[in-house]
Amino acid sequence: MTPLHANFPETGTVFLVGAGPGDPELLTLKALRLIREADAVVHDYLVAPGILALARPDAERVFVGKKGGGFCCPQRDIEGTLIRLAREGKNVVRLKGGDPFVFGRGGEEAEALVEAGISFEVVPGVTSALAAAAYAGVPLTHREHSSAVVFLTGHEHPNKPDSAIRWEDYGKLGATLCVYMGMKNLETIARRLQAGGLAPTTPVAVVQSATTGEHRQMLSTVANVALESEHAGFGAPAIVVIGEVAALADKLGWFSNSSRADFSPLVSISSATGAG
Ligand code: SAH
Repeated sequence: MTPLHANFPETGTVFLVGAGPGDPELLTLKALRLIREADAVVHDYLVAPGILALARPDAERVFVGKKGGGFCCPQRDIEGTLIRLAREGKNVVRLKGGDPFVFGRGGEEAEALVEAGISFEVVPGVTSALAAAAYAGVPLTHREHSSAVVFLTGHEHPNKPDSAIRWEDYGKLGATLCVYMGMKNLETIARRLQAGGLAPTTPVAVVQSATTGEHRQMLSTVANVALESEHAGFGAPAIVVIGEVAALADKLGWFSNSSRADFSPLVSISSATGAG
């Protein structure tokens, strides 16, 4: 007689895992373990190939996103994929760039899992604003310059009447502003911050592909950053750090692509953790 569970596999768990900003060495040990153990890995374009390579060769890999404004799997399909895989009895790692709960739609996916009765866990990752600032030499807080940090999305069009972000108000805060997905709307964002009272000379650091082999950074001012970054060919994925602290990049910038170790994540992480 066929055992019952052959027809009805036990439902798997979905792990919403932060993959960090790109450099595989910035994965948490928990993320590394879960990626290695996963039956299925569901990921989008921001997750580096070096991190995907950590999954079991026989793990099912499902790609659910495309870069930029092009085609992107509808969110409901992604949630459906997670639920289906878990119901097939698989332990699923849903890998997200940075942190799953910072502009990563991790909240929506967790809600869908709750509604479907699927168990889940969330593993935080190094969000790209923290990584971009650290690698660019920008301390996000500093006793002399800034006591608060704000994470904002520049993705929604800043001119739409129901825009959730009142950029003028953020121009008055005196906080360090970290803008995700802001490159396309940078000119409007900078103009509205200045309209709110932010000094045109306020330093701005733009950090593209932070921590990866393509890492680039530049320093400008809120008045000039849109034009200068465009001329220099900066684009997504980038973090824009606005505030007095950004000027410290000149003094504290330490990272260059040539300082990256010739690093093989499989070998180095295994030896660092003693894992096989
Ligand atoms: N959950 C992610 C954010 C996803 S939204 C996190 O916590 O980081 C995508 C945006 O993140 C990009 O448009 C860009 O603004 C930022 N981003 C992701 N990876 C980046 C990187 N390596 N360098 C700079 N910005 C990055």
